[in-house]
Amino acid sequence: MLNRTDLRGRSLSPAELRATLPRAEIDVDAALHQVRPVVDAVRERGVEAVLDYTERFDGVRPSRVRVPSAELTRALSELDADVRAALEESIDRARKVHADQRRADVTTTVAEGGTVTERWVPVARVGLYAPGGLAVYPSTVVMNVVPAQIAGVGSLVLCSPPQAAFGGLPHPAILAAAELLGVDEVWAAGGAQAVALLAYGATDTDGAELAPVDVVTGPGNIYLTAAKRMLRGIIGIDSEAGPTEIAILADDTADAAHVAADLISQAEHDPLAASVLVTTSERLADEVEVELKTRVPVTKHAERVAEALGGKQSGIILVSTVDEGLRVVDAYAAEHLEIQTADAREVAARVRNAGAVFVGAYAPVSLGDYCAGSNHVLPTGGFARHSSGLSVQSFLRGIHVVDYSEEALRAVAPKVVSLANAEDLPAHGEAVTARFERVAE
Ligand code: NAD
Repeated sequence: MLNRTDLRGRSLSPAELRATLPRAEIDVDAALHQVRPVVDAVRERGVEAVLDYTERFDGVRPSRVRVPSAELTRALSELDADVRAALEESIDRARKVHADQRRADVTTTVAEGGTVTERWVPVARVGLYAPGGLAVYPSTVVMNVVPAQIAGVGSLVLCSPPQAAFGGLPHPAILAAAELLGVDEVWAAGGAQAVALLAYGATDTDGAELAPVDVVTGPGNIYLTAAKRMLRGIIGIDSEAGPTEIAILADDTADAAHVAADLISQAEHDPLAASVLVTTSERLADEVEVELKTRVPVTKHAERVAEALGGKQSGIILVSTVDEGLRVVDAYAAEHLEIQTADAREVAARVRNAGAVFVGAYAPVSLGDYCAGSNHVLPTGGFARHSSGLSVQSFLRGIHVVDYSEEALRAVAPKVVSLANAEDLPAHGEAVTARFERVAE
């Protein structure tokens, strides 16, 4: 079912490894051409354009885009009690972890009388996206909202695609999660039209106003990602979080049933999802294949799972040693990386590139999806080489506040003048010396 690549005895550079490893060909730039007309239409025609695209892509045309607050209350009151308790647990644990991420302002005394303070200031207004195409993700509402609230963002608006089955409202579980978290502004829009709506703002059919946001965060499919990339600059965005990925680094101590179950759980998201096993053990690889053959046909989303596992983005990579495996997973930079080896903690500590690392047999990715306390909005497509997942930091800006006394400036003035002259910007130096000339007069 999974393609195999044998890297044993081959010593490839990180760039060569990246070219060899399985990865979905997701051409976000190509999708830009598809989303540009959507974004332009929403900028020009506002909510009417949102409704046109909603009708085309989501198969429903609601009478308005903003979700009435009575629907949020109703969704929460009708939410299954077990699901509510599970969401509350998820929120609780996420709040614990994210509360510890809040950075304190730091003042550094650079010289006598000269300080630089880094003040962390929350973004004023944020648009959060919870996907709702193939699957609906109330858990993503939690993962977006909790860090934004802990950062102190004053104004939050949530967008999620309208569902034909629910009369053009987002899925009730999404609405219930929003209500549980205290988000009262929810708009029923998906994909590129949602990002454009958030970036430009709009007036609803009944006159309700959506004020433009400063930042849009949240995962989604290629159209959502392309729209975020296109509108970056008008809005800030988090890292691109597209079709999901798991890499599992395993040796012969791993349990094939655990490994197979985790590969399947990731493949369940999306036919484009990637499930990659990197292992030192050919026996484990064979046993995982056997497990997949029995498990895939009986899993609920068997067709989607088989497509994802059989796709070129998924596979088994054979390596000679765990160290070689570490080089491979670092080159791959998975959104989710499980370490299922002897000394898993020690191996995990050496990982350099991953959105999140799951250590040992009892930390499956699905724990992180819902109830570990960690955030599940994570960089995909190798972006973990340079980007982090969603966190409190995603919603803060560090502002440097420079405070120097006259004496502190006087002491460093010759250095500023030298550097200004070296850059042939003498007026920069004069802006410093002018202060002391005036004092001298
Ligand atoms: P989605 O909400 O991202 O997309 C649905 C929207 O796509 C629709 O509302 C529609 O507007 C738009 N769309 C559909 N077809 C279109 C077309 N032909 N042209 C333009 N727009 C179109 O939901 P989804 O499709 O289920 O995708 C969710 C994705 O998010 C999955 O790939 C999943 O793996 C990923 N995900 C990632 C993370 C992460 O942290 N990386 C977390 C959760 C989900």
